[in-house]
Order: sequence, then C-alpha cells, then structure tokens
Amino acid sequence: MSDDCIFCSIVAGDIPGRIVAETDDALAFLDANPMAPGHTLVIPKAHRERLADLSTEESRAVFDLVHDLAPRIAEAVDADAHTIGVNDGPEAGQEVPHAHVHVMPRFEGDGGGPIHAAAGSRPDLDDDELDEIAADIAAE
Ligand code: 5GP
Ligand code: ZN
Repeated sequence: MSDDCIFCSIVAGDIPGRIVAETDDALAFLDANPMAPGHTLVIPKAHRERLADLSTEESRAVFDLVHDLAPRIAEAVDADAHTIGVNDGPEAGQEVPHAHVHVMPRFEGDGGGPIHAAAGSRPDLDDDELDEIAADIAAE
C-alpha cells in the first residue's frame, strides 16, 4: 500500500470505486473517466508501479481476472469486441503509477482505432534488423 496512491486507496476502501470483481490478489473497478461504457481497470491489490514489478503470482491474478471478466463486461454492456491494454510507463501514457490493465469495450462504428494507433510512426526495419532484435530479446 502506498499512502498517496489513488488505486491503493480504492483497494483499501478509503475512496469509493465501482468494484466489479475481486480475487485474493486482484481488483477490477470501473474507470472514473470511461472511454466506453464498461471501461474497466484491473489492478494488482499490492502497490506495483510497472508490470515488471509484479510477481508471477500477481501477474497471473491480474491477467486471469482480465480473461475472466472481459466476456462478462461485453455481455453486460452489449459490446462487440474489446481493446485490452496497458500503458506501462509514463512514456507510454501511464498517468496513475499503480499498474493497471484497461479493458475497453468496443462497438461497431465507435470511431476508435486498433491498438497500433498507440505507437508513433511505424519504423522502417529490414529483415536483418528484425532478426537482430528477435535474437536480442530472446537472449535477455
Ligand atoms: P493511465 O493513463 O494511467 O493508463 O490510466 C489511468 C486511468 O485511471 C484513466 O483512464 C483514468 O480515467 C482512471 N482514473 C484516474 N483516477 C481515477 C480514480 O480516482 N478512480 C477511478 N475509478 N479511475 C481513475
Ligand atoms: Zn498503489
């Protein structure tokens, strides 16, 4: 628990949240400024800033809850699809420094784009560069 973290305050019940599901290690609640009806945030109950800070167990708890909840959200708001994503770090748009997965219901003709729209311009990478990147990642 971090004293000045808004999501820790929701976990602790100190500020209200529209909680939709809870497990031992994860909590899901509606986004206060939703991009769509049913826009839900799924978080580890423990204060963890970035995805890499989660233990394997915490990560499983969060993503299991995302997997369990997404179809239920779709059913509840009659959504056609979802965009599911994480702004993992401030440079990626993370504003609340407590890791969270966005589950955004999507609707035919809603005017939104694919998750690719989150990245900047597409880099021009040739086959050799792609091979090198894949090898570097595999070696980490
Ligand atoms: P981020 O940019 O960090 O990925 O997204 C943070 C999300 O948290 C935003 O979509 C924002 O609307 C939501 N949010 C910020 N403060 C609160 C709050 O106090 N309660 C809830 N339920 N959502 C919040
Ligand atoms: Zn926190």
